[in-house]
Amino acid sequence: MKYIDEYRDPTVAEALVQKLAQQVTRPWVLMEICGGQTHTLMRYGIDELIPKQVEVVHGPGCPVCVTPLEIVDKAIEIASRPDVIFVSYGDMLRVPGSSSDLFRVKAQGGDVRIAYTPMEALKIARANPERKVVFFAIGFETTAPANAMTVWQARREGLKNFSLLVSHVLVPPAIRMLLDSPVNRVQGFIAPGHVCAVMGYRDYETLAAQYHVPFVVGGFEPVDLLEAISMLVAQLEEGRAEVENQYGRAVSRDGNQPAQHILEQVFETADRKWRGIGSIALSGWRLRPEFDDWNAEKVFGLSETDVPEPPECISAQVLQGLKKPVDCPAFCTRCSPETPLGAPMVSAEGACSAYYRYRRHLVTA
Ligand code: SF4
Repeated sequence: MKYIDEYRDPTVAEALVQKLAQQVTRPWVLMEICGGQTHTLMRYGIDELIPKQVEVVHGPGCPVCVTPLEIVDKAIEIASRPDVIFVSYGDMLRVPGSSSDLFRVKAQGGDVRIAYTPMEALKIARANPERKVVFFAIGFETTAPANAMTVWQARREGLKNFSLLVSHVLVPPAIRMLLDSPVNRVQGFIAPGHVCAVMGYRDYETLAAQYHVPFVVGGFEPVDLLEAISMLVAQLEEGRAEVENQYGRAVSRDGNQPAQHILEQVFETADRKWRGIGSIALSGWRLRPEFDDWNAEKVFGLSETDVPEPPECISAQVLQGLKKPVDCPAFCTRCSPETPLGAPMVSAEGACSAYYRYRRHLVTA
């Protein structure tokens, strides 16, 4: 299949591994931001194929993992109401809140439905004018344009029984937080290809110049990641700190302009709490005040809360690349996909879930 087979070609992959072996002269620590890239690295054993001097650590780019407990609790509170149809991506249903999850709400009779796009929630709202339909709008810059389109369309149609519970997060402020940390080890970043497909990569050029750290916008197939790692190592070995684009088949420097236009009209930047990490300045989007009638937090009058994380879960260190899931004492014992303590074990994109699938022999052998 075009755009798949050639990026999973073992001959090309082997050549890139050999090239890397010739490039590396000293240890380097790289981070892939995106959870989808984490799973590719683990699934294809790329972390074990590349030279030992190149360590790849995993970043905070799993949208389900970083959605804060407080928002999950708000989702549970809204979904438990008898007048509500609560619509969400499937991953969010098993994410533990402070005392329950959306699956349990559904099991107890709540009308919780799974959708693949937010537009499905809009259709449900049109078909059920006597009910309040709420879509759980989580994720990075990637999912935000479609969510923005729904409220835009709902306002255009005067559809007042539809609203969004928004918890959008942005990648560049999270990278800035990592780079400002006194314990940061990361020397180069694989920037998330799908986020850059929407937003372009000018923000990463600012970060590269300011922190003298190289970035390579990377795709999601094994050859994409090997090539991105090779490009990063080349920059580091040569002392360069630029933004290069490995994922040119999907990403341009300026990104998707119509998507950015709708985002600007619907959302405004705000401080946002990241699960396990805490609040990061100007790292999220919230609905603009002119969309208050479609803002679930306003519609249901929900108040702000502060919920502590389970003390056993070290997801904060995992999401910042300071520790790996196998370093967590609860990994594969008290925490597994059947009994997750933290969101990185629940989500299909979570680092703990990736290690559980592909590396649990490291702790259970
Ligand atoms: S293994 Fe479980 S408890 Fe440990 S960091 Fe991951 S999600 Fe948290």
